[in-house]
Amino acid sequence: MEIKRIPICQPSLDGNEVEYVNQALYDTQIGSQGDFLQQFERSFSDYIGVKHSITTTSGTTALHLAMVALGIKRGDEVICPSFTMISPLLAVIYTGARPVLVDADDTFCIEPRGIERKITKRTKAILAVHIYGHPCDMDAIRDIARIHNLFVIEDAAEAHGSLYKGFKCGSLSDISCFSFYANKIITTGEGGMVCTNDDDVAKHTRSLKNLCFGHTNRYIHEGIGYNYRMTNIQAALGLAQLERIDHYVYQRRHVADYYNKHLQLPHQPEREWAVSCNWYYGILVPNKLQLAEKLSRAGIETRQFFTGMHRQPCFRFRGRYPMTDRLTKDGLLLPTGNLTDSDLEHICQTIRS
Ligand SMILES: *Cc1c(COP(=O)(O)O)cnc(C)c1O
Repeated sequence: MEIKRIPICQPSLDGNEVEYVNQALYDTQIGSQGDFLQQFERSFSDYIGVKHSITTTSGTTALHLAMVALGIKRGDEVICPSFTMISPLLAVIYTGARPVLVDADDTFCIEPRGIERKITKRTKAILAVHIYGHPCDMDAIRDIARIHNLFVIEDAAEAHGSLYKGFKCGSLSDISCFSFYANKIITTGEGGMVCTNDDDVAKHTRSLKNLCFGHTNRYIHEGIGYNYRMTNIQAALGLAQLERIDHYVYQRRHVADYYNKHLQLPHQPEREWAVSCNWYYGILVPNKLQLAEKLSRAGIETRQFFTGMHRQPCFRFRGRYPMTDRLTKDGLLLPTGNLTDSDLEHICQTIRS
């Protein structure tokens, strides 16, 4: 008998995606100017609750732009979580600045109490990553930033639609970044967004992503820029996805509720001030490799948690990050997006057996 394969994640393109992409092609607006880019940026700003949204080519390039736009440079330090996807650390390193690590707490996000000890004269910013969709404790982080006069940067690449005390992730800091990679809450295939309420930062970011072309003479460049331009075709896809975002978040919250009820295994908790978009649902189990193998034989794809940044051979960090190590050792991600109730029943039954 053929077994049904349940992928860890599968984008759904069940709205106006085909229509809008075709429209962009019919209009011959295939480059980095066009109506869909403007509409996507405007609608995204409305959705997140920020003044400016600027499209980019990926979440990683969005983070890089955010660092440069805030003036982070060689000699500076940026506080980062040890438990994260690698992109935010790379963005710091691209500027020549140095990431400084802080361990996770039991929400899997950066532990605010660990931050203050790591602040030095060189510290310029705190980079908060909303891990697997759960918001960081932003009030605690912003209080520390205010006292020490630091920027706060949000990496919301996993947190489209998540709420912190009723406000959208991505609207809670000086500058925030999103990814629209194929496995994120909404996708443009590859793509990213920078959001900010600061007019000058927004203007600088727009210039940086487009080679810093001159204002009076286009070919007298205003600085060292990048080509991080999204295409209008990608924005067409993004706009159609954005129209459906509340539905995608609702679906993922339903999946998490189902797992909570039917598995009752240690998992990422949701704080009373948080609404997570549940990008992924992670469980903590002592024999996770065995479980992953068993699920794989039943057609169910899983994925490991991140490996801590202090364990990456390309970096050299000192210090101990015990919570991060524990998450890496025991953490397993279950299928979370685009599942039917019978998929969920099959997954839960296989795990329980
Ligand atoms: C996916 C992701 C990124 C990077 O996004 P890309 O579009 O793949 O470059 C950055 N940060 C976090 C936390 C992510 O999960």
